[in-house]
Amino acid sequence: MTPAADPPQSQFAELAELAGGFIHEFKNHLSTVGLNLQLLAEDFGTAETHRERRALERVQRLQHECDRLVEVSNDFLRFARIRDLDLRPTCLRSVIEELVDFFAPSARQANVTLTTYLPADLPLVSLDADLFKQALLNLMLNAEQAMPQGGELIVQACADNGGVRLDLIDTGLGMTADQAAQVFRPFFTTKPGGTGLGLATTRRIAEAHGGTIEVESDPGRGTKFTVRLPGAE
Ligand code: ADP
Ligand code: MG
Repeated sequence: MTPAADPPQSQFAELAELAGGFIHEFKNHLSTVGLNLQLLAEDFGTAETHRERRALERVQRLQHECDRLVEVSNDFLRFARIRDLDLRPTCLRSVIEELVDFFAPSARQANVTLTTYLPADLPLVSLDADLFKQALLNLMLNAEQAMPQGGELIVQACADNGGVRLDLIDTGLGMTADQAAQVFRPFFTTKPGGTGLGLATTRRIAEAHGGTIEVESDPGRGTKFTVRLPGAE
């Protein structure tokens, strides 16, 4: 028997649109639920009896669940809604520098030393800068979360086959080979509050640019993600 082929792109787009529409609708109702829970929590704000306090606890648990559903829905929409890219010949170095500036306060707070090696003469890449920043931010957040005691994150770029190769190297917890093989699968997560959609989204963004992403990891030592982007025409 031959293995099943990937569905054609148009089928994927149709499914993504369907799922995106569903989540959008779902979020509308969720926001009504959240609003009413908020009002209920306010009603019980001055809980006096044991019964009222227990009711307040339950309402707060529901609020927490509601927040979580909003978070998963937003991550899901970011994953499903990668469609028409606004591609322009771009200097990747300035895009990364902007993002690094944005990320620096968070890194400092987490005791993460952020080092960049970005040559000035990188070839231009054809980029949707906003979308690509989202992909990079996912990688940087993961790196930070993998270094709960702090550590080092290196972001380095170099010219590669007419395009650019970008490495993000952290000194975090690392992963087993088995975990590393699954990280790009939607909903794969090892974090209590994780959605498991960050890397799936990052890979889709890299591929939508005609690029690739790979991971190498060493448990207890750290992890390296490598993104390759083709050069602009
Ligand atoms: P989430 O961050 O919500 O868990 P992601 O798709 O971003 O989802 O990541 C999936 C999983 O991959 C994480 O839960 C973690 O186990 C692993 N992972 C990702 N990046 C790293 C990293 N830099 N170091 C170690 N593990 C990582
Ligand atoms: Mg993540």
